[in-house]
Amino acid sequence: MFKKFSQLDSDLLRKQIDPLFEATRSGGLANIFAVWIVYGLVVNTSHQDEAILLGVAVTFLSVLRILISDEYLRFDTKKLRTFLAGHVFLTFVIGVAWGWFALTQTAHEDAAIRNMVFLINFGMIAGSIATLSVWLPAYVAYIAPQSVCIFTVFLVQGDRISFYMAAAFFIFIAIMISTSLKVNRSHKRELLLNLKNNELIDDLNNEVMHRTRTQVLLEDSKRGLKEKVKERTIELEIINENLIKEITDKEKAEESLEYIAYHDELTDLPNRNLLIDRISDSIETARRSKQKLGILFLDLDRFKAINDSLGHNIGDKLIQEVAQRLLQTLRKEDTISRNGGDEFVVVIKRMKNGDEAILIAQKLIESLTNIFEIDSHKIHIGASVGISVYPNDGDTAVELVRNADTAMFSAKKSGGNRFQFYDESMSNRLRERLILENELHTASERNEFYMVYQPQINCLTGDTVGFEALIRWKNKNLGMVGPEQFVPLLEETGLIYTVGKWVIKEVINFIRSGQTGNACIAVNLSALQCGDVYLADYIANEIKNSGINPACIEFEITESLLINDFEKTEVFLNELHKSGCSIALDDFGTGYTSMSYLTRLPIDSIKVDQCFIRDIDTNSTLENIVGAIINMSTSLGLKNVFEGVETEAELEVIKRLNGAIIQGYLYSKPLDVHGVHNWLHADKMIIGNLHVKH
Ligand code: C2E
Ligand code: MG
Ligand code: MG
Repeated sequence: MFKKFSQLDSDLLRKQIDPLFEATRSGGLANIFAVWIVYGLVVNTSHQDEAILLGVAVTFLSVLRILISDEYLRFDTKKLRTFLAGHVFLTFVIGVAWGWFALTQTAHEDAAIRNMVFLINFGMIAGSIATLSVWLPAYVAYIAPQSVCIFTVFLVQGDRISFYMAAAFFIFIAIMISTSLKVNRSHKRELLLNLKNNELIDDLNNEVMHRTRTQVLLEDSKRGLKEKVKERTIELEIINENLIKEITDKEKAEESLEYIAYHDELTDLPNRNLLIDRISDSIETARRSKQKLGILFLDLDRFKAINDSLGHNIGDKLIQEVAQRLLQTLRKEDTISRNGGDEFVVVIKRMKNGDEAILIAQKLIESLTNIFEIDSHKIHIGASVGISVYPNDGDTAVELVRNADTAMFSAKKSGGNRFQFYDESMSNRLRERLILENELHTASERNEFYMVYQPQINCLTGDTVGFEALIRWKNKNLGMVGPEQFVPLLEETGLIYTVGKWVIKEVINFIRSGQTGNACIAVNLSALQCGDVYLADYIANEIKNSGINPACIEFEITESLLINDFEKTEVFLNELHKSGCSIALDDFGTGYTSMSYLTRLPIDSIKVDQCFIRDIDTNSTLENIVGAIINMSTSLGLKNVFEGVETEAELEVIKRLNGAIIQGYLYSKPLDVHGVHNWLHADKMIIGNLHVKH
């Protein structure tokens, strides 16, 4: 604090005395000129030597004082008080020199010269106000010795004039001191004013600086703020965009989820969920408008066989094509949905009577009759349609669909490729079927299956050439169940693979037991079994391991198999044929066999279906057809077997047409193992004028 004050004091002092040092040069020069003027005045007088001494002393002292001042001004010295003391001292010494010289004038011979010298003293005293009054001690130091000496000289004179002169000089000195005081005061005031001004300017500058800095800071923060706002805006825009995208994605996901929930992925058709909704809505409308509603349940025939033999990929494509065909057949206002698998459900709104449903069902079935070409596979498929009608067959969507399904099942059971209206008895049949299915699953474990063998006889020679192995099922609760009933169920449940293998094993064992003689045993193969890639190998191995003659075994396949996947069947049959077995085409005439298939495949015989035999004796068309079949198969080198011959009249026609091998009740129903033994060892019997050789 003290240091600060003293610092301040010295700053103030410095500002006050700077003009003193600055004026030293002019003051000094004035003194030098003045002393040498004095010398000029007293030259050649008795005071000449004192004048020289004065001149030299004042010149020396003035120069010394100038040098000190220059030194002070040149260096921003901190020893200003020392310099000031030095300056004042030298000024005092100069003043003393002038005073001393004035004293030497006391005894001057020429009063005029003396007064002239004094005038110069007066001038110096007056003039030095300008250079010394800024620092009063300096001025006093300069004028005090001179004034005292000049005053003394006047007083010493003792005359009146000198007395007046002394008085005038006294007044002069008083005026000079007062002037000097005024100059000093005004100098100080100016100095203070300057200081204040400077302070003010400093304050102002500080303020300006502060404001500028604040302004800059403000600008900076404004700029920063703008940048931040910009950045934040961009961020917000991005967040907003992302949010919008997220919301849109979410909405899309929800939409697609909803779409997936209500649509079938494969065909893009409404699925069961949407179907039930639509039927429920349609029921409401139908109820209000007192109209009918038709539900058509469509199921593809033989689809399982196609899917299993050709693979799921082809199966899927087939379903897609079927969906397209069905869609094209329907009116816009009708709904078609895929219920799953190979099932489609059609809803017919505003139906006036059942005829409309018949018309549409027929159209749907017809639309699928043309062959499908999928990945170079030619596929023939049919459809069974069940029809239920609101309000007759139910008043809820679920009930109506279930009843249409039951009707479809009934249509399928009746041979497929047809439609069927629902009636209540169907539900009972469906229940029966479910019971059957349950029992079938455990039938093998309970050894409920057994084989029977129906003889095949050459009606021209009477020889028993073979037997057809036919499966039988005797259930503990249901009793005997016919193969027409349970074989399709075995296929649907997939049990056919294991049961089919059991049949093959059973037949091979029977042949190996030697009870069949030279007769060949025919084994039925379902279409599904022919799609089992390992079955041909399995059969070959079983035959090899049993050691039986492969020629003793024949495999019967149905026509539909050929149509569905010709290439695969061809491979399978060739494999089978290679192992030495023969192959028969069963139920010939009921399918769509192309003649070219017969030549390309390793088929040994055809089995003419019993529908051609029934009434052949009374129906000439049937006779012509069978005649043509016999001619064709003979020319192709194929054996022909006639199934279901029951009467001698039928036999006669066949014989007339040159048919040879007969399998029918006329000769024998299927026999158990014991029956076969008896058949082969019994005496000959006469049927239709023929001695049947056992
Ligand atoms: P299918 O292969 O056409 O067998 C001939 C069917 O005609 C047998 O019926 C047989 O008993 C019957 N039949 C023979 N002669 C006459 C006759 O004079 N009059 C009448 N009304 N029927 C006669 P079944 O045994 O009921 O077999 C029905 C079908 O079940 C068979 O037809 C065959 O497709 C299938 N099947 C039977 N056993 C097996 C088997 O072990 N495996 C496979 N996959 N299918 C079998
Ligand atoms: Mg058969
Ligand atoms: Mg048959």
